[in-house]
Amino acid sequence: MAAFGTVFTDEMILSRFENNGWTEPAVVPTQSISLHPGAHVLHYASTCFEGMKAFRHADDSVHIFRMEKNVARLQQSSELLTLPKVDGAMLSQMIVDIVRRYASDVPMPPGSMYIRPTHIGTEASIGKAAAPSLNSLLYVLLSPVGDYFAGGAKALRLLLDDNARCASHMGMVKSGGNYASALQPILKARAAVQADQVLFCPNGDVQETGAANFLLIDGNEIITKALDSSFLHGITRDSILTLARDRGMIVSERELTVEELLERAVKPGAEAALSGTAAVLTPVGTLIHAGKEYHVGGGKAGNTTATLRQALNDIQWGRAEDKFGWLTRV
Ligand SMILES: *Cc1c(COP(=O)(O)O)cnc(C)c1O
Repeated sequence: MAAFGTVFTDEMILSRFENNGWTEPAVVPTQSISLHPGAHVLHYASTCFEGMKAFRHADDSVHIFRMEKNVARLQQSSELLTLPKVDGAMLSQMIVDIVRRYASDVPMPPGSMYIRPTHIGTEASIGKAAAPSLNSLLYVLLSPVGDYFAGGAKALRLLLDDNARCASHMGMVKSGGNYASALQPILKARAAVQADQVLFCPNGDVQETGAANFLLIDGNEIITKALDSSFLHGITRDSILTLARDRGMIVSERELTVEELLERAVKPGAEAALSGTAAVLTPVGTLIHAGKEYHVGGGKAGNTTATLRQALNDIQWGRAEDKFGWLTRV
């Protein structure tokens, strides 16, 4: 199986913002786009994106998971980056149209079609370091993906880092620059302690990893950071918390300190997990802090993480009722 995100459909769908309006969306070859070397995005990182998935059900129908939430988040990211305003109805239609066109390429579960809307500032002006791009390009890429958990969900090793992942006012923006700023700490953590990911905990406040949210599960309670502007508001996070509440679990959205995390995570029955569109809900087995390793749940894997992941997959795969109205049929 090819690495996640390296296979694309032959075509994508695209619209340009120019002369104060969006052009009629067009299906074009994925192979390349043409950009002026002075394009705003290449110099001043005016770029944001989304990640969501379409799933094939047993009756061969194809459904996009929480499309409206992802469209709204791209609108929010665009606004926070002062990119041209995204027309939500137009983007939703672009997504549905391109997924429908490639419906026969949507893999069976546990595979899916990963959908990557991307919005970039294209104005050719290197003098606009402190001014927005007036033109932009919005396109939707599709990438068929296989089972992220092939070979079983391996519990991750996380290094706790006292630094922030990105500037605190940029956390809610799904923007390229934030991933660039987190890359060095992640590579260093891999080399130094064989960590899979870094859990950013600025000033001892447990926040998130480079591309997923963090959840502590302690018995019947889920604890995760309350929404603020410093981190990415994951749609998987929201879905898991909704499913947990529905099952009668206590959901505590509040500050979680490194101290409390390390104390509670090692207790028998405790679990920790990362949530995200690609990761779904991946168990965390080890937390590394100040040269010490902490084994989550005393080293024994709990089953709440797997149960919640299955409950989410069951809705996505059409094996359980879509009781929250999360699916859009294409
Ligand atoms: C995309 C992302 C997430 C997860 O968001 P989902 O909507 O659940 O896919 C969490 N944190 C960061 C930094 C992300 O980029």
